[in-house]
Amino acid sequence: MDSTQSHQLPFPWLNPVAQQLTQTWQSGRFHHAMLFEGQQGIGKFALSRWLANGFMCQNPQGPHDTQGALYTQGLGACGQCKSCLLFNAGNHPDCRTIDNDNPSIGVDDIRQATAFVYSKSQIAQRRVLLINKAEKLTEAAANALLKTLEEPCANVFILLSCDDRAKLLPTITSRCFKMLVTATDSGLVYQWLVNQVGALDEATFNQLYTLSNKAPLKVLEWLQQNKLAEVEQFTGQFGQWLTGNLSNVVLKNALEGNAFTLLLFHHLLINHLRTRLVNCHEVKRQAVNAGQQFAAVQQLFDQMSQFSRDGLQILGQNKSLALFTLLNQVASCIKDIR
Ligand SMILES: [Zn+2]
Repeated sequence: MDSTQSHQLPFPWLNPVAQQLTQTWQSGRFHHAMLFEGQQGIGKFALSRWLANGFMCQNPQGPHDTQGALYTQGLGACGQCKSCLLFNAGNHPDCRTIDNDNPSIGVDDIRQATAFVYSKSQIAQRRVLLINKAEKLTEAAANALLKTLEEPCANVFILLSCDDRAKLLPTITSRCFKMLVTATDSGLVYQWLVNQVGALDEATFNQLYTLSNKAPLKVLEWLQQNKLAEVEQFTGQFGQWLTGNLSNVVLKNALEGNAFTLLLFHHLLINHLRTRLVNCHEVKRQAVNAGQQFAAVQQLFDQMSQFSRDGLQILGQNKSLALFTLLNQVASCIKDIR
């Protein structure tokens, strides 16, 4: 691997945040605990790993001057030294990672991790602890981690990543330097996706990108799973349902147990309601019942948000009933404001 290649970030849209990290590092004001927050599928954990690799590397690369000479130590790993090889093999003794599919991160995981934090470095000058999906920390685990965050050790960095900061204890977030990871340059994301999957028309990209809430890795996953056909089929069903030509039962069957169509439904309905809200505003002075229509649409918005919070996250026997109840409410409400 050549040195230019090893500098590269895993995803091009991470460039602005990586530059910001490098500048902070070079200014000597780097915080010992970082919290990377952003959409699922934006590459937060990949960013944490890139940073951790830079911390471990014995020959870190920085920005170069116009002659190509290295003028300052940066965060780009060389990819070739012993530390880099160990890191890439997942065997670096000075790097510990908590990243698994378990529903929660328990106090035992954190106790083992903090024992590592207070141990001695073996190869690198620093030690790094990475915690992916930090929102899975149980309260006891979060409290166990708190002590480590409050009493930082020299040359130890703790890198947390999470999809939703609101699910973390405020005592944790207040002790971390928070960075929001986003993909703002959609042209860059489009080009990256084209490189991954080959041909991709822009309209399809725009539809999926909006649906993903601007999470490129989510879009890639959907493209690889051929979700496009599903989008087209369900969008047709949704249109029929809106006009009363598809029953609530049929729509419920299409939605039940399918997180993707549920997300699509939410997206299509919110878009529809948004259009209705604009119309309600326009006719407000003319129509006698405009105020009632407005209230009805607002109520639907609230119901959808509530359902997204509860229904999309809580698995249980009542999910089917909750979904059917919601569809009945939405259908009757939509009839009133059509
Ligand atoms: Zn290296």
